Amino acid sequence: MLRILPKIRYNGIRHYSKLPPKVSTLAKFDFPLATHTVQSINSDLDNYLNKQQTKITLNGHINRKSRIRPTLGFGFLRDTNGDEIQLLATPDHTNSSIFELMKKLTVEDSVSVTGFIQQKESKSDGNDTQAVELELVVEDFQILNSSNLEAAQLDKLKHNDPSQIPPQFRYLQLRTPYYQKALRLRSQTAQLVRETFIKNHGFTEIETPLLFKSTPEGAREFLVPTRAFNKFYALPQSPQQYKQILMSSGFTRYFQIAKCFRDEDLRSDRQPEFTQIDLEMSYINNSDQVGVVVEDIIHNVWNKVAKKPTYKVNKNGYLEEINHDQPNKLQFEKLNYIDALTKYGIDKPDLRSNLSFTSLESYFTAQENKDFPVLEICILKQAFDPATTKKFKIPKTFTDDHNFPSRRPYVWAVNGPQDVTSWYKKLLDANIISTTSSFDESKLLAELNLEPGDVFAVSTRSKFPYENPTPLGKFRQLAVQEYPHRWQRPIVTEDGSLIDDYNYNDMVVGSWVVNFPLFNPIEIKSDEDKDSKYPQYDYTKYESTHHPFTMAKIEDYELLESDPLKVRGEHYDLVINGVEVGGGSRRIHDPALQQYIFEEILKISNFQDLFGHLLKALSMGCPPHAGLALGFDRLCAMLIGSSSIRDTIAFPKNQSGVDPVVESPTGVSEKALNEYYITTKQ
Ligand code: ASP
Repeated sequence: MLRILPKIRYNGIRHYSKLPPKVSTLAKFDFPLATHTVQSINSDLDNYLNKQQTKITLNGHINRKSRIRPTLGFGFLRDTNGDEIQLLATPDHTNSSIFELMKKLTVEDSVSVTGFIQQKESKSDGNDTQAVELELVVEDFQILNSSNLEAAQLDKLKHNDPSQIPPQFRYLQLRTPYYQKALRLRSQTAQLVRETFIKNHGFTEIETPLLFKSTPEGAREFLVPTRAFNKFYALPQSPQQYKQILMSSGFTRYFQIAKCFRDEDLRSDRQPEFTQIDLEMSYINNSDQVGVVVEDIIHNVWNKVAKKPTYKVNKNGYLEEINHDQPNKLQFEKLNYIDALTKYGIDKPDLRSNLSFTSLESYFTAQENKDFPVLEICILKQAFDPATTKKFKIPKTFTDDHNFPSRRPYVWAVNGPQDVTSWYKKLLDANIISTTSSFDESKLLAELNLEPGDVFAVSTRSKFPYENPTPLGKFRQLAVQEYPHRWQRPIVTEDGSLIDDYNYNDMVVGSWVVNFPLFNPIEIKSDEDKDSKYPQYDYTKYESTHHPFTMAKIEDYELLESDPLKVRGEHYDLVINGVEVGGGSRRIHDPALQQYIFEEILKISNFQDLFGHLLKALSMGCPPHAGLALGFDRLCAMLIGSSSIRDTIAFPKNQSGVDPVVESPTGVSEKALNEYYITTKQ
């Protein structure tokens, strides 16, 4: 083995005006392959321990320099699985060139080491249940590429909190066990998804183009200029139109793990490019048939990758583990949009919590805004102990305006008996609410049953809520975060007993949200009322709640003409633990109906230019079809228990849409712009 001493370390890349020296450079290309991994040694210890004749080669990075035996100054190797082993120099090395090399090592050098395995001398207290700690006695050693000072300076972060390593060094971050595990799990999940589609359900994987056409599908798109005058591609927001055209192409079961692009606000945990598990099926007459395939994927990935069971909410409102004895039946509960909004204030409720709302419509009418007359309440039962707390201080999270998209609810604590009634008296005195003709105080008090120790929030909503989440919906989310492990929905076991002290984070609770309105009124955002706490809508103009290709519920067909806002869509969202994991729908395969929606309801005057290709494909015998897409990045984040999709994406963009590793996007030369007929203006 050729041994080359590393050069003096420096930041950045050393500049050579000549060809770098042959011997030292080529030595980096000549090295032995690994014979083992730390894991393979550990799983067959008897075979390796103290057997000098069994030569072992491990390749990897120097994870840390060892301070245990400074005289033999060595370190720990992190192998290609991310597992660590101590490297030991022996006194025989002391005068050798290997030892010189060892002394010059720094963290994150990439090395190849050969030697034999021995058990580490243990300072142990004789407890023999302790795992055997191993070290590799190094006989041969080679630096394959030395790292630089920057990597060494970041070493502390690597061991303490790798997420704090500056994002331009993403590759150093990715070398650490957490990120290694995250990306390997992502790969494993992708493989399982493919297997489930192909083996269990006979799907065909088909790629659709990334250079697509500019057509409105909801979000702002990325345009791609071409060298033809005023001709642009657009990157697809989803493969929606291509997959529908595939249904007209004789493929009855399509899937793809697809890249999608949306030029959207990146403040929340979103990425401009992201990945969907996309599917479409034809000749099916019920959306549940899509749901069954999707659930098979969901149960499989959680059971096999995360090793966790999945749960549904049963008829009695308890969490019940899903058993898989009816593979052709939907398992997760279906929840109507309107019920989700009125009970939980959001279309993606976290059903691990059993907090829900009570409408006070029969007692009060809210007066602040005529379009938002409904008063509702959410009670946090026994949020504090009145025996030990004289005057409860409302948590800041409930009173911070920034936590609420529009207005924030009124929040009170019941410190004593007077607080049971004082809240509505105050609201009545301030003319914020009025009583209804059916107001009955004793009935109200009995229904709410407020007691000292309770905290409650009161807010308003419109009769049919388009606001999503409502102020109370947001309050519920905050309450779940503020008081973990409180008000959990009990699990019912097979023998009927109830458990409610489980770990919230271990639970996987899914549901299908259905019966969304097919259209929403368009929200008016004028400068004048930009500070208004109530959204304003133009109820004569409509936009699709999801996308314009969703079919109406058959029962609501005539309403398309008479009252479009009353039409419910054949759309279904899959919600797990309060996260919208995916959504899909039955599609309109009738071209005349699709054209009517574009032209008469959505008033898209140039629909032929935008969607003519789809109408044409539908008009050539396209069969009935339905499909769905799951957010793959989010799914993987949930599987590793992370709240950020960035943890499962190798090279995520930052919140300004910049890739910090390659520093894109960049400007291009005037000449290049000219080729695309682009002129720039400040
Ligand atoms: N294309 C849709 C989306 O991206 C999903 C679907 O309807 O299949 O949300």
